[in-house]
Amino acid sequence: MDTAARAPGRVKEITSAANPIVKQIRLLEKKRHREETDSFLAEGMKLIIDALDAGWRVRTLIQARSQRGNDRVEALAARCVAAGADVLLVPEKLLGTITRRDNPQMVAAVMQRRFADPRRIDPAPGDVWIALDRVRDPGNLGTIIRTADAAGAAGVILVGETTDPFATETVRATMGSIFAVPVARMRQDAFIALARNWPGQIVGTHLEGAVDYRAPDYADGPILLLMGNEQAGLPAALVEVCTTLIRIPQAGRADSLNLAVATAICLYEARRHALAVEPAGALP
Ligand code: SAM
Repeated sequence: MDTAARAPGRVKEITSAANPIVKQIRLLEKKRHREETDSFLAEGMKLIIDALDAGWRVRTLIQARSQRGNDRVEALAARCVAAGADVLLVPEKLLGTITRRDNPQMVAAVMQRRFADPRRIDPAPGDVWIALDRVRDPGNLGTIIRTADAAGAAGVILVGETTDPFATETVRATMGSIFAVPVARMRQDAFIALARNWPGQIVGTHLEGAVDYRAPDYADGPILLLMGNEQAGLPAALVEVCTTLIRIPQAGRADSLNLAVATAICLYEARRHALAVEPAGALP
């Protein structure tokens, strides 16, 4: 949670893509620049408001000039300025250049990154944590973070060299869930140490798994659900720490399921005892 008191930000009008501030923001497309500046780009009113509500820090708000006078946008801009962020007023076309979109949202924001501290992972009995081994695809990672949020997972652990959760494509795919789900990252050896001390089941997913994914007693938690890399699956060193290896049965010619789909199927099964749709009355 970002609680530091800061001097109010400033409002600046910028019209040119050659402006140095704009050039810096556009560099956030590159992972190295995101890491060096500890920043990333998020787009859209709802997403930015959700982020602020969850205590994330906006460094710069970029607002389409055409939205001056829009009460909701102005309220967001005032909130950002009060919290110390600068507001850039730009022509809509320039907002599209910054976000690399033909139809940009009304606002975008440069935000401070935030990873969960792996030393603070303290699983409670009802928790399901998801661990992703070397996930490569930004869309898969974004979809998994969104699914983790929807299913009520406690968090996501990125193991080894993975795609960046703060890449613009990933943030888009999370649909705002990046601000709700703790995401930690750790090297494989640190993860193995965490797994060896895990107080519950470590359920690995594997094409050769001997157990049907619906068979484990997931109420006997906390659960660590371990998913393999898109190309290589789980390496032996990670298979070794699993207490169970589950498999989703397949009928057709596909040799495996997409990683995000497999995660969703297993996660919802693992959370089944905790999630239920309340019986409703007649449909409207
Ligand atoms: N060629 C890889 C292999 O041999 O494992 C395929 C990896 S698959 C695309 C990516 C990950 O999704 C797997 O490591 C596993 O975690 C999960 N997965 C996909 N299909 C699965 C299935 N039928 N049962 C269990 N896990 C599955």
